[in-house]
Amino acid sequence: MLLDGKTLSDKIKEEIKLKTKNFLIKPTLAVIQIGNDEASNIYIKMKSKACENVGINFIHAKFEEESLEQEIVNKIIELNNDPYVNGILLQLPIPSKFNQYKLLNLINKDKDVDGLTDINMGMLFKDYNNLVPCTPNGIIRLLEEYNIDLKGKHAVVVGKSNLVGKPLAILLLQKGATVTICHSKTVDLGYFTKQADILISAVGKKDLITRDMVKDDAVVIDVGMNRVDGKLYGDVAFDDIKDIVSYITPVPGGVGPMTVSMLLYNVLKNYEKNL
Ligand code: NAP
Repeated sequence: MLLDGKTLSDKIKEEIKLKTKNFLIKPTLAVIQIGNDEASNIYIKMKSKACENVGINFIHAKFEEESLEQEIVNKIIELNNDPYVNGILLQLPIPSKFNQYKLLNLINKDKDVDGLTDINMGMLFKDYNNLVPCTPNGIIRLLEEYNIDLKGKHAVVVGKSNLVGKPLAILLLQKGATVTICHSKTVDLGYFTKQADILISAVGKKDLITRDMVKDDAVVIDVGMNRVDGKLYGDVAFDDIKDIVSYITPVPGGVGPMTVSMLLYNVLKNYEKNL
């Protein structure tokens, strides 16, 4: 069965839209972009459109690669202090001459709608979730929608990035799963994935997960986004696997749309906190 992230995401966006309709002052998301990364331009456009559709104001603070770091620091401080701004997001990647760690951590924890500041990551680690990274949060929301119970299940997460793998592993632990985390140095990846009741791949390699690596009736979540000849693929060999699993996310239409709706959800969450 397909885990339909697109339909659930549309439902969440509709719920957000219904709420913002009644607000005299709309929530606001500010996205800071440094440089002109092509993929970032596309993602920012998508976020801007999604905000517009649900009644969230969108600020695009764009800086040239030649900008001084202090200018960006000043902008973050300004946005932190602006009571009308409910979410701040530093669009990654940023050019390497900038200190990403410092800039990210300048964002006020309650406006950190990507959930990537040390403070929000630390809170997540201690089971005191404040703002949670959007992709992992979206995956948990999707599993919940299909009543997939995680208690006592063996979840295997492939990929250990700060953006997806690590926070997702913590969320799965919080939900009572037994969690294994695999990465590029894991020896015999298939040995681990084959044991998974819930298998999540967040790597960025087309056809990494093949049929022989998946247990019958497993739940498979494909986070990967790999563009080949203009077409989008996940990490999972979807066509080979779809008939042996109980649930699987398509790419596109699975995790991707959930990431966007969780971002909007985080903006609204902070807005409502201050009502
Ligand atoms: P990342 O920072 O590059 O992390 C990739 C992870 O995969 C790393 O932990 C790496 O291990 C591991 N890895 C690499 N090769 C491997 C292999 N052969 N076997 C096992 N593990 C391996 O990427 P990311 O930001 O987490 O994103 C992962 C993928 O998800 C990308 O395709 C990205 O585009 C996609 N993504 C999708 C969404 C969405 O909304 N759908 C959101 C975010 C990301 P090491 O740590 O040991 O290097």
